[in-house]
Amino acid sequence: MAPRKVLAGARVVLPTGIAHGGRVAVEGPRIAAAGPAPADPGTPGTTDTPAGPVLDVSGHWLVPGFVDLHNHGGGGASFTSGTVDEVLHGIRTHRRHGTTTTVASTVTGEMDLLVRRAGMLSELAEQGDLAGIHFEGPFISPCRKGAHSEALLRDPDPAAVRKLVEAARGHARMMTLAAELPGGLDSVRLLADHGVIAAIGHTDATYEQTVEAIDAGATVATHLFNAMPALGHRAPGPIAALLEDERVTVELINDGTHLHPAALELAFRHAGAGRVAFITDAMDAAGFGDGRYLLGPLEVEVREGVARLVEGGSIAGSTLTLDRAFRRAVAVDRLPVPDVVAALSANPARLLGIDDRVGSLEPGKDADLVLLDDDFVLKGVMRRGEWVVDPQLG
Ligand SMILES: [Zn+2]
Repeated sequence: MAPRKVLAGARVVLPTGIAHGGRVAVEGPRIAAAGPAPADPGTPGTTDTPAGPVLDVSGHWLVPGFVDLHNHGGGGASFTSGTVDEVLHGIRTHRRHGTTTTVASTVTGEMDLLVRRAGMLSELAEQGDLAGIHFEGPFISPCRKGAHSEALLRDPDPAAVRKLVEAARGHARMMTLAAELPGGLDSVRLLADHGVIAAIGHTDATYEQTVEAIDAGATVATHLFNAMPALGHRAPGPIAALLEDERVTVELINDGTHLHPAALELAFRHAGAGRVAFITDAMDAAGFGDGRYLLGPLEVEVREGVARLVEGGSIAGSTLTLDRAFRRAVAVDRLPVPDVVAALSANPARLLGIDDRVGSLEPGKDADLVLLDDDFVLKGVMRRGEWVVDPQLG
């Protein structure tokens, strides 16, 4: 049996709080122990496994690997149009930034293309490289289309929704839709019945229509604030409905471009740390660089890390990676580290129903962890017990 790997001396972020000078022991692909340093530092492991060398990571943070619910690509590769190798390259690019669990998001395309895509991505889910598929579009509002091709949008006809869900062979995890469109509420119910998260987004719904959608089973707000009517005092719109309801988790893109820090703070305070999921909504340029890209059929120009449609200038996804979202949340937004960890790992894992395996540093779970220095700069990534980014100490 492989020796255990022991990381000691870090501030370990556990579900119960921060263990200063704590340690994490890893056996094979799983966490064997996580917690404060044992009273007798000479105590070997609790199993017969040989005690491996102890890696001193004092002065660092150890946090669970990040779980990204909403991600369209990275490293120059698109999850909507890339080859299998390109998609894997995109997934691995985000892994090197701490995202050990990725849900692949598609953008609006022809139904036939999306059906084929669902088949291809579900194979990557079967082999363990993806945690599933998120369909963003085509069932969204032309009024709030963002970087989705208007010509390809359609109403959320439950038969079409079902077709995509079935094409994903049990790996459809989430669908973003505008529930105020004809067929919207029936589609929300259908998704809920199939165990697929119905996410409200790219929507022009009123407050009342959003309440109806939540009552029908919607449980996520797709990038709250973006691609939906603004919060108004006489017409509070979807934002108020999504923020106030305990059943809803709100996605936030914390890249400094999509949201003003005050908007992020408002959402965080109102929803509480248990109902926020930080996402990237990344497109191909994440972890890659500026230039010209395609998002589905639409041309995108990325300049200084901001992606915009060539035509119209709409923001077209982000170039964010979740390690940057982490650093910003602590350094700029001044959020407590355990709250940031919840928004990056535990909450999305729970939403996806995989919190028995990932999302926190607890014995028996996958050894997915991120090592950060004192300034919250990523210094190491482990996934399923293997270093994806070797620890850089000192
Ligand atoms: Zn998106």
